[in-house]
Amino acid sequence: MSDIIRRGYNWGMTTRSIVWFRRDLRLRDHPALSEACSEGEVLPVFVVDPAFDGAGAPRRALLHDCLAALDDATGGALVVRHGDPADEIPALADEIDASTVYVSKDYGPYGRKRDEQIADALRGADRRLRGIGSPYAVDPGTVRKDDGDPYSVFTPFSKKWRACGWSDPIDAPRRPNWIEAPSDGLPERPDVDVDIPSAGEDNVLARWRRFRDDGLDDYDERRDLPAVDGTSRLSPFLKYGVVHPRQLLAESDARSKAQATFQSELAWRDFYADVLFHSPDSAWEHWNDKFDAIRYDHNQAAKNKFERWCEGRTGFPIVDAGMRQLVESGWMHNRVRMITASFLVKDLHLPWTWGARFFLQHLLDGDLASNNHGWQWAAGSGTDAAPYFRVFNPTSQQERWDPDGEYVHRWIPELDSDDYPDPMVDHKAERQEALDRYEAVKGSS
Ligand code: FAD
Repeated sequence: MSDIIRRGYNWGMTTRSIVWFRRDLRLRDHPALSEACSEGEVLPVFVVDPAFDGAGAPRRALLHDCLAALDDATGGALVVRHGDPADEIPALADEIDASTVYVSKDYGPYGRKRDEQIADALRGADRRLRGIGSPYAVDPGTVRKDDGDPYSVFTPFSKKWRACGWSDPIDAPRRPNWIEAPSDGLPERPDVDVDIPSAGEDNVLARWRRFRDDGLDDYDERRDLPAVDGTSRLSPFLKYGVVHPRQLLAESDARSKAQATFQSELAWRDFYADVLFHSPDSAWEHWNDKFDAIRYDHNQAAKNKFERWCEGRTGFPIVDAGMRQLVESGWMHNRVRMITASFLVKDLHLPWTWGARFFLQHLLDGDLASNNHGWQWAAGSGTDAAPYFRVFNPTSQQERWDPDGEYVHRWIPELDSDDYPDPMVDHKAERQEALDRYEAVKGSS
């Protein structure tokens, strides 16, 4: 206690706790924060974990902005520590003599191990880690078949998911009693060319309500057209929990067909988190291990092809437009994510993990569960996978979803000039090659 007095902390008789923010960078509809505030004084903390260095510069810039906005919303009370949370959190709890560290539960493979380790350390000091809520409408592990098994097919999952339901959003705590403590300051904001969308709860809720009022009723008709601004663009903020899916579900109405489609996209997000929760290895390994038998290329020629894919120089305009949109804006339209992913795996015969890693480096919404299972869907090796033999044809996909060429011209200014490359492969031949390689999967036991 003498150390605490020396450091100049407030010292009252009320309960003191820490709210450790992770993927829940908001004050509204935050059950863990509300519970902590109802009990007494709270130290709001974010730990800049060196493990975050793997995220690309655009996502780190977004994280910086989300933290700055959260700090503002707390009136400058946010304490940021840089280091391994396994050291920082127990040390902070000792420093302020917190009885409880509140978190929104993390169900990812890394977060679960980290939290178990931290819960043990806190327990040793007679403190506890208390998880309330998660970044999902329905916590992973909750939706199960009648026999208790997890689902591996989306449609029955989504029916049960709806039946499980979710609680109504709650307000931000009225007058939180923040504890003061020294902060290491926000992480450095990387210099990026990508436009980072405005962070902060007010901005993000305003973005949602604009979309809800102007775009949601046309969602099912416009969401597949990459030239059109027909989707919510909320994914980066769902990733960091500036907004919670519960808030979007509460303000949309499943009786409208378009709104129900939007809600079911949020169910996909929960589904993939659930799949990853039950099969943590499926982050980087085939969910369907029959696909371990498939042959991908890894040689120098494969690396050269990969480079052309990354740079958006394949000679297939819809693929190249998508890759340029990704690198230049930190986001790619969902339809084009499916096309570019299919092209990498089935036209270039490269491992899906190469593409998934590249996406995670560049996407502002880069998320292990949605990204890597989106990739496994495209590669045919995941749950609910597109049948492997249904190979996307990039030319007919473009004709169907970008019939006027508006999207491809927007991202490829040289498209109509001699500077644009010829197609790097013959799609028909590579499709056959993909099907031939698939025979090994069919033959494996
Ligand atoms: P909207 O159409 O407005 O949808 C609303 C929300 O629903 C999204 O913000 C997202 O949280 C969720 N959602 C929508 N579609 C999906 C889906 N297919 N799977 C899971 N959640 C979905 N999404 C990510 O959030 N992070 C990723 O790293 C990611 N990587 C992907 C990689 C591939 C290969 C594919 C095919 C899809 C990936 N997606 C990922 C899913 C989807 O492309 C994005 O969520 C969507 O494009 C985000 O734009 P939006 O917010 O405007 O979506």
